[in-house]
Amino acid sequence: MNIGITGGAGFIGAALATRLHASGHTVSVIDAFTDYYASDLKRERAAELARLGVTISEADVHTALNDWCSSGQFDALFHLAALPGVPGSLREPHRYIKEDIDMTVTVLEAAKRHQIQQVFFASSSSVYGEQTGALSEQQATGQVVSPYAAAKYSAETFCNAYQNLYGLQITTFRFFTVYGPSGRPDMALYRFIEQALRGQDLVVYGDPVRDFTYIDDITRGMEQALQARATGTFNLGANQPESVRKIAEMLGTRYGVAVTYTDRREGDVSMTWSNTEAARQAFGYMPAVTLTEGLERMITWHLGRV
Ligand code: NAD
Repeated sequence: MNIGITGGAGFIGAALATRLHASGHTVSVIDAFTDYYASDLKRERAAELARLGVTISEADVHTALNDWCSSGQFDALFHLAALPGVPGSLREPHRYIKEDIDMTVTVLEAAKRHQIQQVFFASSSSVYGEQTGALSEQQATGQVVSPYAAAKYSAETFCNAYQNLYGLQITTFRFFTVYGPSGRPDMALYRFIEQALRGQDLVVYGDPVRDFTYIDDITRGMEQALQARATGTFNLGANQPESVRKIAEMLGTRYGVAVTYTDRREGDVSMTWSNTEAARQAFGYMPAVTLTEGLERMITWHLGRV
């Protein structure tokens, strides 16, 4: 298949492009190398993709999407480009409307115009707001606690509208705290490992519990959904919530650094925990990598860079 990925130089996008290319698909990515975090890491991922034979377009989805879709003739489009992160969304909510809602509508319009058979949208566990227990898809009701989550929830509803109005085949994935090699520098595990390896103290905000999901489980799930042509909304998580404090303490002990605790950040939920039964039934999704194993793989990647 001809597959397009927006945000393909990002953490999840680059890993997905690598997997789909290895499976024999023709993969093209578009990425603007935005400055949400150091663009060096994105350029590194893009260089590796180019080496494999993935086509990279350095361009902004807001302005270049139609030309990119015309040249790509895509059978499926994965929309991963976004402005991620909860804290930034409290400071600049309007930017999140542009990058997470408006950009998604631009993608949906392009999918309609270019008659792209399948569209996959990257949403987030944050749409569940402050709830406890293993959450299944129908438990997202719009009671969110950050502008980032509000933007993702709103973008999901645009996906529903385009599916209902124009018959687009749309799959929404709700990712649960994705981690792994070449991850996102703003996320807790990336930060902890970098700080621990440099002998710096680890700082934990509040006492969160997260359903950390290894990157390979996420990209395998996305490929399975593509193969099964599954439509609808699906959690992609690990079903194994873990205390962030506990992970920090483990790393602190291992590398001989202190762990300090500070207030919970506004907009953060206390717990995420996925029920992935819908994804299992629809396309056979089964998370396989334990946190212990995934962390070791991640540490190995970081050790290769310090
Ligand atoms: P990322 O920041 O590493 O990747 C996003 C990519 O999109 C970046 O490379 C960025 O340069 C690109 N981009 C942003 N705006 C663009 C624009 N206007 N035009 C072209 N490219 C643009 O983030 P990620 O962690 O890989 O996340 C991918 C998707 O998954 C995002 O939609 C994110 O909100 C969602 N998500 C991620 C997680 C997670 O744990 N990583 C959890 C839930 C949801």
